[in-house]
Amino acid sequence: MSLFQNTVKRIQEAAQLMDLDKDVERILSVPERIVEVNFPVKMDSGELRVFQGFRVQHNSARGPFKGGIRYHTQVDMDEVKALSTWMTLKCAVVNIPLGGGKGGVMVDPKELSPKELEALTRAYTRAIAPLIGPEIDVPAPDVYTNAQIMGWMVDEYSKVRGMRVPGVVTGKALDNGGSQGRDEATSQGGVYVLREMLKDYGLNKPGLTVVVQGFGNAGSHVARMLAEDGFEIIGVSDSKGGLYCKKGLHPTEALICKTHTGSVGECFTAGDTCERITNEQLLELECDILVLSALENQITEKNAAKVKAKIILELANGPVSLEADGILKKNGVLVIPDILANAGGVTVSYFELLQNLAHETWTAEEVAKKLEPVMVAAWKDVDSTAKQYKSTLREAAYITAMKRLSDAIKLRQGL
Ligand code: NAD
Repeated sequence: MSLFQNTVKRIQEAAQLMDLDKDVERILSVPERIVEVNFPVKMDSGELRVFQGFRVQHNSARGPFKGGIRYHTQVDMDEVKALSTWMTLKCAVVNIPLGGGKGGVMVDPKELSPKELEALTRAYTRAIAPLIGPEIDVPAPDVYTNAQIMGWMVDEYSKVRGMRVPGVVTGKALDNGGSQGRDEATSQGGVYVLREMLKDYGLNKPGLTVVVQGFGNAGSHVARMLAEDGFEIIGVSDSKGGLYCKKGLHPTEALICKTHTGSVGECFTAGDTCERITNEQLLELECDILVLSALENQITEKNAAKVKAKIILELANGPVSLEADGILKKNGVLVIPDILANAGGVTVSYFELLQNLAHETWTAEEVAKKLEPVMVAAWKDVDSTAKQYKSTLREAAYITAMKRLSDAIKLRQGL
């Protein structure tokens, strides 16, 4: 089953549990608009290459489309459709007035020079310029895109429009209309939810062990934050391999080492308490909390039964497959679902948009003070829905979101 079909199946299952209006279910099961763009880029060698990109606008019932741009060789329309659907649900779970969108370009950005990366970003921005804007559709960074790429997007879009439009994307650098706290917002939001859950379920105790898959933006921040909160980080990994330290590791040191060596898997010395492991082994480590912060479909029917963690925190989008959900549930593994766990990112993106539109700059403290209650309220809503429907947290998050979306769709479309 494709990623998008998987997502629609989850929508249908939640719809059945909550007895959702069939018309609303039909509307949520398809994107409002899907666009494929093919655009030429002149490479440093003088060769002209045509790249393929996508933008999917899933649903705007609750506000402008919102969602990141991914640069990856495996980006395709199906993946972007699934990611845009999750954005719609995510914004509704945290109750912010935005819809869902997502974009991507099929490219390995690591193979491009900075000049080529800039040219590709500007060409993609021109190709999707008629579809985006602060009141229409607001992109942001995702896997292998960052604040610099957002800066080029603002500049190119502003040229097309003939005026400065910083609110066309979020996730910008601070000096370019970005928000304090955006870089770590996804991880911070996940930490707020995890903390609340451990408290409410009586699972909070010192020295809980944590394994983090995907030591990138979200993964490295969450490892640092959890270590600062007294959790013990015993394993981390990136696309090139993993590191297991039975006595715990220091996330900031691991990040410095990764910067020098290119992979956390290289960050061990012979004879010490750390060893190099594969990504497959990392997912099966004995631990209290497994944080998934890489890509989709990392836990599937093939390895779900081997997961020994008690809790999974999904900072990545879609890291657990539909089939794996059933196995984890049977084995008593609690999954804090992506549309709740990683919603801190889009929440601070929303704060960035508000600051841009109001020409304001909030301090880091103001941002944190506004983010925490949003995430705590979302957790409480999802948890009480799970109790009401005797459902998993994922089903409850879908139901919470779909109730809000249903209200908005009915009010707008007179269903
Ligand atoms: P990133 O590019 O900074 O980091 C991704 C990391 O995953 C990299 O370190 C990469 O090496 C690693 N990785 C890739 N394949 C892997 C594999 N098979 N095994 C182990 N590691 C692997 O991206 P990011 O922004 O941290 O995003 C990570 C995930 O979080 C994505 O699913 C993204 O959609 C999701 N997410 C991110 C944000 C955000 O604000 N950054 C918000 C919401 C959701």
